[in-house]
Amino acid sequence: MSKAQINPKLIRLLTHTSRADIPDSPTRSWLPGKYAMTVYKQRDQVKRKFPENHLMLTCNSCGRKGKYDVGMMVINPELDNMTDNIQTTGYFRCKHCNEAGDWTLPNEFYLRSTWGLIAENMDGDFPMESICTVGENRLYDGSKHIFTSDAEAHLLNLLEKDPSDAYIWNRLGNIYDKGGRPELAVSVLEHSIGLDIYQTESYYTLANLLFEITEYEEAASYFRKALVTACEYDKLDAKSLRDALAVCLEKLFYLYQHSDGKISFVPTDEEREATSTSVPTPNKEFYYLDTEIEVFPGDPQSFYPFAEMYMGKMANRIPKRDRAWERPNVKKRIKAKKRHKRTKRK
Ligand SMILES: [Zn+2]
Repeated sequence: MSKAQINPKLIRLLTHTSRADIPDSPTRSWLPGKYAMTVYKQRDQVKRKFPENHLMLTCNSCGRKGKYDVGMMVINPELDNMTDNIQTTGYFRCKHCNEAGDWTLPNEFYLRSTWGLIAENMDGDFPMESICTVGENRLYDGSKHIFTSDAEAHLLNLLEKDPSDAYIWNRLGNIYDKGGRPELAVSVLEHSIGLDIYQTESYYTLANLLFEITEYEEAASYFRKALVTACEYDKLDAKSLRDALAVCLEKLFYLYQHSDGKISFVPTDEEREATSTSVPTPNKEFYYLDTEIEVFPGDPQSFYPFAEMYMGKMANRIPKRDRAWERPNVKKRIKAKKRHKRTKRK
């Protein structure tokens, strides 16, 4: 039977179990958290971050062949050495011995990437284009890795030194998510939130994954938690944070409409109190809702004004000309608009 392709070191750091008690090839039932198994069962519903790209690879540890989804090939043409200039995004380990990162790659691997490079330089729809891209993948600390299992090993080493760093856990969750392993991603993201209730990015990614498998109530609660923690979150540049919050709001709006209002669009009192950040009170939100902001389902950018409201002082990091909502004069503008409305009606 094929192995679950899970790193025993991940299980050790997630569960604080001694390595001697963990099998060399842990099964999925070792994954802690509420959602790992649910997400695994419904993994076909999870949106792929990159197209499928299956190749036959040989594991150098056990010598056996297997078909693996290597994901997107990221090619840096500036490097001469073919083996160092192609990175892949898929997360996979040997199906037979559960080792990772030591592979003999087939010629087809290099052929595909060469075709990918040619396709990049041509206009038109080349079938190879979607599985190859020119560039370079680096982790948040600037380190570069060939296989995602190498990047994982690097992050797990950092976590071994500091297991309570929720941000590194979040980064690890992201590479599993992009690597086509949502069950690993949710387990790690839940862990990250358990360590830091202000980990906005973990709420965001977890919510999106639960949304895709139609766990709507749960997804909504994490989207709302992303909103109430955003004003304290300084690990993401302001515009990217706004983009993330706009997606949260757009999805919440969809859920609110499709549940006939049963799923709350705005964070509940409990959610606010649990985080006790300086998020706006509900009255203020409705005040904003009463103003002339128009939102369009399917268009996250139309939610920018609300996203900026939830960002609080973080929104000041967005250059003034790019802000959807001019914060210092908010009150004035609302008053001005209302006055204008009244005169119009005469
Ligand atoms: Zn092997």
